[in-house]
Amino acid sequence: MVAQPSSQLTRKRITVRGVVQGVGFRPYAYNLAHSLHLSGYILNTSAGLLIEVEGADSAVEQFQDTLRRQPPSLSQIAEIAISEVVPRGDSAFTIQESIATNGEFAMVSSDVGTCADCWRDFSDPGNRRYGYAFTNCTNCGPRYSIVNDIPYDRRSTTMAAFQMCARCQEEYEDPADRRFHAQPNACPACGPRLALSKVGELTVRIKPPMAEVRKLLREGQILAVKGLGGFLLACDAENDAAVRRLRERKRRSEKPFALMARDVTAIKQFCRVSEADGVALTSSRRPIVVLPRNPGSNITWAVAPGNKTLGVMLPYTPLHYLLFSDSPDQPAEFTALVMTSGNLSEEPIVISNEEALHRLRDVADWFLTHNRDIYMRVDDSVIRTFACQERVLRRSRGYVPQAIDLGKPVRQVLACGAELKNTLCLTKDHYAILSQHIGDLENYETLMFFQETLGNLKKLFRVTPEAVAYDLHPRYMSSRIALELPIERKICVQHHHAHIASCMAENHLHEKVIGVAFDGTGYGSDGKIWGGEFLVADFAGFVRRAHLRYVPLPGGDAAVRQPWRMALSYLRDCFGPDPFPEALSFLHNIPDKQISVVDAMVMRGINSVQTSSCGRLFDAVASLTGIQRDVTFEGQAAIALEMAATEGIAEQYPFAINDGEPAQIDVRPMIRNIVEDLLPSRPVGEIAARFHNTIAQIILDVSSRIRKSDGLNRVCLSGGTFQNHYLLGRALDGLQENGFEVFIHAAVPPNDGGISLGQAVIANEVLQNGD
Ligand SMILES: [Zn+2]
Ligand SMILES: [Zn+2]
Repeated sequence: MVAQPSSQLTRKRITVRGVVQGVGFRPYAYNLAHSLHLSGYILNTSAGLLIEVEGADSAVEQFQDTLRRQPPSLSQIAEIAISEVVPRGDSAFTIQESIATNGEFAMVSSDVGTCADCWRDFSDPGNRRYGYAFTNCTNCGPRYSIVNDIPYDRRSTTMAAFQMCARCQEEYEDPADRRFHAQPNACPACGPRLALSKVGELTVRIKPPMAEVRKLLREGQILAVKGLGGFLLACDAENDAAVRRLRERKRRSEKPFALMARDVTAIKQFCRVSEADGVALTSSRRPIVVLPRNPGSNITWAVAPGNKTLGVMLPYTPLHYLLFSDSPDQPAEFTALVMTSGNLSEEPIVISNEEALHRLRDVADWFLTHNRDIYMRVDDSVIRTFACQERVLRRSRGYVPQAIDLGKPVRQVLACGAELKNTLCLTKDHYAILSQHIGDLENYETLMFFQETLGNLKKLFRVTPEAVAYDLHPRYMSSRIALELPIERKICVQHHHAHIASCMAENHLHEKVIGVAFDGTGYGSDGKIWGGEFLVADFAGFVRRAHLRYVPLPGGDAAVRQPWRMALSYLRDCFGPDPFPEALSFLHNIPDKQISVVDAMVMRGINSVQTSSCGRLFDAVASLTGIQRDVTFEGQAAIALEMAATEGIAEQYPFAINDGEPAQIDVRPMIRNIVEDLLPSRPVGEIAARFHNTIAQIILDVSSRIRKSDGLNRVCLSGGTFQNHYLLGRALDGLQENGFEVFIHAAVPPNDGGISLGQAVIANEVLQNGD
């Protein structure tokens, strides 16, 4: 028998998982199949992509090979499975209807900043999308913020409300076009449009000329601008009065405002931009990048009072660009605009037009809105570079819901996170899905945001948690939510254990490590407030091996707002009941009566829980040195102390470590020396530097002790204190010079935004060991 020609044909079924939808995968596969003369089909499933290709052996081989080696640039392939199937004799390669399967999950892409091709369309007067605020393609545009279900198709997004015009439809159906199956595809004829209205007036101007919008900003007006993941409040960053008014209206205490500039050249006028910063700024994620501020620019200090850094981002949609100029060949009308979340104080970012008109009416003067709904609220992300690498401080737009590969199979678990900078986390397959920044769980709106995010992520990723993890703190709102959820299995996790576990998970560590968890507040297993902790930990458990010596936290939360209380607490710990050296000036601005009340609290231990918090030690020193008296947000005093520290100082203060189990780190010798340094008024910059060096030395000394006793050489540094780059740099150098292998955070925040990930991996360990 002579073999039939068809027997030389091969047909393969390829399933691809990972971030493969909404990233131009189908047109890519279509074009690749055509160039290799293959037939078959591709479709989106709830699990990812299903491809079947049929043709000559070598061509099929080449198809697989190219798919692995050069996938679409925005995609992230987690897994490819290939099996041989019987050839069917298809005549062509087609893109087929998506199918939804229960229980599966695909990874929804995060929102992507406008790509270079779309900037070209937007800037070309001959292009039909010239100046169009909603220009996007398969390589860029809204994703997570507009998707309400999987598979990712137009009908599952808020673009479903817009009927494509004939020309857009043509692009959408043409596999050779960049907008082939670009779900948010739109143009001025058929897509979303802008509208401008003045607060308190009913007239709405559709498609307002952007020159007029910019004129309002130039006049110092505050605009609420509906962006990608929510409303932002915009005003001219060089207009001091406007920025002050915004700060007042937003009740934003002294927290820094983020800025947006049109391009990197503009940013260099007021900040220093390293090469790594430049890469981060221009990446498709377009985060806010924390940069060192140049003195002497025209950016008003009211943008970030007392801060030597500024958070700056570039436009990530054409709409943002239009706030600076109509096109790149016109000069930008602003060096920078304030672009801060559209919300009041600590409430979640506003997303709907109605919500904005109501909640932002006392904050904004004008509203620049549009008629495309935002489905999921997602704030701008914040990063800072360290050691030439991006470090995420707030993980939101552009990053979420990108899954974190845990490197091993996990069960389905929900972790509810901490109280401040809350995020939640779901696990499934090999992955952790960390939610966007939800915020401080201290008001009803934020709780609703938590529920909304939980519901959405459970749906998008098809997760049904079999257990819920929560923080040990009995009064955390996130713990209460966890306890009320109809999930039977509850797993309680200590805060600092979660910090170390999150650092381990991010770095794919499974064995025991030395965990250094330094932060402001976390509820300890002994009911005291921890925060200066040395643990020996793995996912299964931890032993507290050392901590900062306990001191009273006079008045609980009041001590967080008034760092001088901690200064008093440390002074009493140091000097006992004796009077302090008189020349200590830091107490001069505080009424005597307040001092004596707090002093009595400290001395008698009234209303004063014991704490080993490193954040509170920073507060005490910031106050002692007169650098910071009251704070309006957590961490403010520590930031001020870091800013004050003079570079190039190697000296440090003495301290002692006792031999207890856990060992106690006694910083009284340091406090005594700081007081002595203050009397002849040594420059505070030097004191701040010596203080930081001392903390770094403590980290090295205690880690060395643990290495000796336990034979461990890996150190994980986690907790909000390690956002301090002065300390992080010195701690890292010291440890590495002494042969330690050190792991820090990059993709996950070191602060409480990373707690939920740690809780999730610990809960998984409990489940796996329990069965
Ligand atoms: Zn594009
Ligand atoms: Zn159109």
